[in-house]
Amino acid sequence: MTDLLPYGLGSPDLVEFQLGYLVDREIVADLQALSEAARANGFELRLESAYRSFDKQLSIWNRKARGELPLLSAAGVPMDRPKDEEELMYAILTWSALPGASRHHLGTDIDVVDGAACPDGYEVQLTPAECEGMFAKFHAFLTERMVADKAFGFSRVFIPGRGKIRPEGWHIAHLPTSRKRLEHFSLDVLRRIYERSEMECKRAVLANLPQLAENYIYPYFV
Ligand SMILES: [Zn+2]
Repeated sequence: MTDLLPYGLGSPDLVEFQLGYLVDREIVADLQALSEAARANGFELRLESAYRSFDKQLSIWNRKARGELPLLSAAGVPMDRPKDEEELMYAILTWSALPGASRHHLGTDIDVVDGAACPDGYEVQLTPAECEGMFAKFHAFLTERMVADKAFGFSRVFIPGRGKIRPEGWHIAHLPTSRKRLEHFSLDVLRRIYERSEMECKRAVLANLPQLAENYIYPYFV
């Protein structure tokens, strides 16, 4: 039987880490250790996103395609919705993973901010401006830990020069666990999932799938 976990369709062993955020049970101890290290340095590691199912990612994808959620340009500012299906697909891909190929399906990846630096009532957007602004010290701390190899297995995967998704400074991944989860990922399985899905831009996605994988999937499956 095909293991559908890497596509957000299986039944991963999830536990709630912070209110409402589910992560793979295997990363909890390391995430706790990273969170405590952050606290010891005056930061509050706060999750803004964690596990996401295929259906959730599909809903984000479809709402962006239909204009129900804003589309952001590569610079992170709202842009007009392209009329051409292929252009629209590439516009969504700038900031959103393909359903079935999001690292958030793995339960090993999280989006984090510094709760201690968040002004009261502020709604986090997860933008480069935030990473370089109010959360800059927190991200510098994380970078330092990752370079020193004391980030308990966590790394950034959306970094400059890797694939075509914009660098996402807020996204960190527990690589030892995610590597295990991605071992059997197959583009053929993903194609069959798409063929059965109610997905916007489906024709463009299926027609371009190998190139999409080269630029938007495999560079981040490290
Ligand atoms: Zn993320």
